[in-house]
Amino acid sequence: MYTRLAILVIAFSILSGCVDNSDIFEFEFETMGTVAGGIAYSYPDAGQLVEATFDSVNTCLSSWTDDSELGALNLASADQKITISSWLNSCLTVSEEIHRNSGGAFDPTAGPLMRLWGFYRRQGHLPSETEIDSCLALLGGYEHNQNSVTKTHAETKFDFGGIAKGFAVDRAVANLKAEGMKNGLIDLGGNIYCLGSPKDRNYWSVGIKDPLNKNRIVARVEMSNKAIATSGAYERFVEIDGVRYGHIMNPVTGKPATGLLSATVIADSGIIADGLSTALFVLGPEKARELLKNYYQEVEAILIIQDKEKARILVTPGLRGDIELLEEYRDRYLISSFSR
Ligand code: ADP
Ligand code: MG
Repeated sequence: MYTRLAILVIAFSILSGCVDNSDIFEFEFETMGTVAGGIAYSYPDAGQLVEATFDSVNTCLSSWTDDSELGALNLASADQKITISSWLNSCLTVSEEIHRNSGGAFDPTAGPLMRLWGFYRRQGHLPSETEIDSCLALLGGYEHNQNSVTKTHAETKFDFGGIAKGFAVDRAVANLKAEGMKNGLIDLGGNIYCLGSPKDRNYWSVGIKDPLNKNRIVARVEMSNKAIATSGAYERFVEIDGVRYGHIMNPVTGKPATGLLSATVIADSGIIADGLSTALFVLGPEKARELLKNYYQEVEAILIIQDKEKARILVTPGLRGDIELLEEYRDRYLISSFSR
């Protein structure tokens, strides 16, 4: 059992110690470069359906292979008009909305920066300012019109790593609901959707990882019929001369974003939770506050920042009653309100 799901399942098993577990089905598999899993009530085939859904999304939207639809678009030359599928269109449309609202902090064309810093080959490279500048010139180098994309530079490359997992979770939830499933939980590499509730409770309890020790959880959040996603530099990084560089790029500087330890978003859909958590991570607390205030009043967020002595967990007021700091963290972490 992998750590992330184990955390959820342990809580679940303890809480449901006295209910009949015979119609509860747990599943787990690897996909999209991460671990996926879940818990389904009353639907034995849930795991197969979720796995097939994630595989189809990966075939369409993976940034890591030339064989996906996105990979083919990345290989296209400048001025070639490429017809895109409805899934690619949806992801690009939401990406553009978050790009606009975040003043460019979220950028679906961060591909050249990811490559430059060595994330695709998993071997870090500390680039020169000239190298960074030539990548920055490629960002946003495309036109998107009614189901087609035309790149203006051949070297402009899309990377949906910041949004595709949330989109995949939404597709899986839609498929499960269509099969009549009412209660369950899906986790795709930390992009989680909580459908309904466990049998004996009104809410699912989801762990928030400690960004300073990703094998532990620092707090729990209670939620139902919502998606949650977390972005943190600790999940994926390259090491250059003993320094760790995280995988989320600041498209203004062309360098990895460093302002926060982690950013978590709870939203109605996985795609918004995923895309927005990446954007908040890039923006840092003050600009994150503006973004939430101006465009995402209905969304809740948890930002973890390093303060002098204690790490601080900034929580939007709508979440205050639903979040609990774990006892062993109470002397090291401080929860404070994050009003917008
Ligand atoms: P995770 O992949 O750990 O769930 P995120 O959802 O925050 O974390 O996505 C980070 C990924 O998003 C990176 O690995 C990269 O593929 C892509 N990315 C990096 N920088 C940006 C950015 N500024 N805007 C949008 N996507 C980005
Ligand atoms: Mg994301």
